[in-house]
Amino acid sequence: MIIVLKPKASRTQVEAVIREVRNLGYKPHPIIGVERTVVAAIGDERTHQTLETLLAMPWVDQVMPVQRRYKLVSREGHPKTSVIRVGKREIGGKRVQIMAGPCSVESERQIVDTARAVKKAGAAFLRGGAFKPRTSPYDFQGLKEDGLKLLSLARQETGLLIVTEVLSEADVDLVARYADILQIGARNSQNFALLIAAAESGKPILLKRGMSMRMEEWFFSAEYILSRGNPNVILCERGIRTFETMTRNTLDLSAVALAKTETHLPVIVDPSQAVGRADMVSTLCKAAIATGADGLIIEVHPDPKQAMSDGAQQMTPRQFEIMMRELKPFIHAAGRC
Ligand code: PEP
Ligand code: MN
Repeated sequence: MIIVLKPKASRTQVEAVIREVRNLGYKPHPIIGVERTVVAAIGDERTHQTLETLLAMPWVDQVMPVQRRYKLVSREGHPKTSVIRVGKREIGGKRVQIMAGPCSVESERQIVDTARAVKKAGAAFLRGGAFKPRTSPYDFQGLKEDGLKLLSLARQETGLLIVTEVLSEADVDLVARYADILQIGARNSQNFALLIAAAESGKPILLKRGMSMRMEEWFFSAEYILSRGNPNVILCERGIRTFETMTRNTLDLSAVALAKTETHLPVIVDPSQAVGRADMVSTLCKAAIATGADGLIIEVHPDPKQAMSDGAQQMTPRQFEIMMRELKPFIHAAGRC
């Protein structure tokens, strides 16, 4: 870390900083300039306590880190992109993985029909919420364990792998018994107790970016999971809340590009939650692929107007099939398959 003192800090004040840097386990190197003194604190910032507390000294002007503090997630210490194996599939490899299915699991017929349709169109994973995070407590909350059983049935029928959300720490064991990938939703991506419990299940985790989360905060959430011994994290950009009201959220493609550069984790995009309308999903999928996304997670419902959640943004199986065909040249142009 670099500690910059205010102009004309006294010798006693410089010494107080040096003492504190040493107390916190770093080796201090003062550089005395004409106007200002700078203290370089040598030590591993990723494992030592932050020196930001030094800002409590009125003569300290700035404390600047020089290393990334999300050390397990950062490419700094892990230059090679991670490839996550789920069953026989790989996320983060050459193949762009497609996850598709309804927002919520509603019935056997709905989930099995959707699973068959999305598989036929080329998806490898079936999404569907059994535990639903709804803004209003009066809205459909999901079929819970019955929904998980239906997902499991759809997996048996089609061989698709299951991605489903876990809403609370108390449900981690239950959801992990049925799911191939645990989804941590946007509303929970800084629920640290849930992140830890999900990490400890040993299942791969799809970590959504919170709707008002800075990228650094998203990377720290991933760091919670990796630091609990679970390296299998897939980052998912799903749009952030901005001043815009004509789309549900604003898909932040720069976050996809940056997450791919800054971390070694696979990054996927959820255009459905981002834009909030089915007719825009295909365009955003193409853009996501051009930005380097390793996969897409898309809402598909056999009859969106009857859907119990997120009707406006769910594609019909037919729209999905057409989109999958249209995506092919974009996937090839990005050097993927
Ligand atoms: C969902 O995938 O249906 C969902 C609720 O996602 P998010 O957490 O991104 O809002
Ligand atoms: Mn949804």
